[in-house]
Amino acid sequence: MPHRYDWVVIGGGIHGTHVGLRLLANKKVEPASLIIVDPEPKLLNNWEKQTAATKMKSLRSPLLHNIAEDPFSLKRFAGKKPKSRKGKFSYPYNRPSIDVFNSHCKFLIKESGLESLHVQEKVKFVNICKDHVDLVTVGGRIFQAKKVVLALGQSEKINIPLWAQVKSSRVMHIFSSDFNWVDIKKHSNIAVVGGGITAIQAALYAESVGAKVHLITRHPLRKHQFDSDPTWLGVNSMRRFAEQKDYCKRRWCITQSRHRGSVPPQLYTTIKFKIRHQSIHHYESPVASLHEDDNGLKIILDQLDPLKVDRLILATGFENIRPGGEMLNHLIDNFKLPVAACGFPIPDERLAWHPKIYVSGSLAELEIGPIAKNIAGARAAAKRILAR
Ligand SMILES: Cc1cc2nc3c(=O)[nH]c(=O)nc-3n(C[C@H](O)[C@H](O)[C@H](O)COP(=O)(O)OP(=O)(O)OC[C@H]3O[C@@H](n4cnc5c(N)ncnc54)[C@H](O)[C@@H]3O)c2cc1C
Repeated sequence: MPHRYDWVVIGGGIHGTHVGLRLLANKKVEPASLIIVDPEPKLLNNWEKQTAATKMKSLRSPLLHNIAEDPFSLKRFAGKKPKSRKGKFSYPYNRPSIDVFNSHCKFLIKESGLESLHVQEKVKFVNICKDHVDLVTVGGRIFQAKKVVLALGQSEKINIPLWAQVKSSRVMHIFSSDFNWVDIKKHSNIAVVGGGITAIQAALYAESVGAKVHLITRHPLRKHQFDSDPTWLGVNSMRRFAEQKDYCKRRWCITQSRHRGSVPPQLYTTIKFKIRHQSIHHYESPVASLHEDDNGLKIILDQLDPLKVDRLILATGFENIRPGGEMLNHLIDNFKLPVAACGFPIPDERLAWHPKIYVSGSLAELEIGPIAKNIAGARAAAKRILAR
């Protein structure tokens, strides 16, 4: 007989961990009646791997966007005295360093006992039954749940442009599981492709270790403090968004409000300085094709001369597809769960896609709006899910 839990959270990233912490903190569930199912070896593993790969030093979001229920928890954790807070927050918006943010996460997970509720499995099927939900994992385990939260993230598929789909150890995507910086050494000649914050951080890091860096972007560098308009954190924008009943218009609004491929002003100034002083070479052109021979890679640019490099780092993000693949198709096809024309769930305002199934992250985008995938979106989603 499968064990039955009150709550099962699928996905142990920022979103799943945050909702798990809130469920426990608000005593909505006994620890024995909650699990977080995720194939990664520990909670927040994806977050740690991705942020480590980019070599980012601080978050883009402010201090109050953290995974504790109380937004001031991270501030308290960092210590009151200016000396203890030194180096932990950056101007502007008191953006936490990645170290203090991650230490705070570890502290919360340990303190709440959440790590012991992590089951290392990937969920393959979700079946809605009369009084519970059945979850079947790839490893063949079956769990039953009264309520399920889908917090699957958006990192299922890394985005590899067509021209870069070659089998070569010289071409690496920064978010691929085997990516590492070991090969990027002094005097190596590397190209970084991508125009967003990840590419800029990677280019700056490679330059700092002495590599000769060529940054290739499709568009001029774009400067934005946050990756979506901060008015989306306010009630007025959200009220107008909720009043919009046409989901195509909501999707359009999300797309328009996200500053994809943009860089915060501090990084923008640094990279522009390096480009001006030619310590990083910037090429503004789409890539036409990529060729490899014994000497290295040749990148053919649409509008500029070809470029010869030893290595190519793709910082082209993740595919912007609905997460959950077959598991979600099964729910949509067999249980008629509502989806918009863009294929994403239409949950109610409490993020219930079904009375027993809740969504967070990109799956909640059509309710939470442009901030849905971010830490602020995780906070907004958990608040609504727990408000039942
Ligand atoms: C480099 C980087 C920096 C970022 N910086 C910021 C920032 O400063 N501020 C901000 O607000 N946002 C930031 N973001 C955006 C966002 O907050 C992060 O991407 C965050 O990690 C998203 O959390 P998540 O839980 O949705 O996804 P993930 O961390 O990807 O977690 C989802 C989890 O679900 C699991 N999963 C998926 N399918 C299944 C399944 N079928 N069964 C079981 N488990 C499953 C996965 O294994 C994964 O562990 C950043 C993103 C990146 C990539």
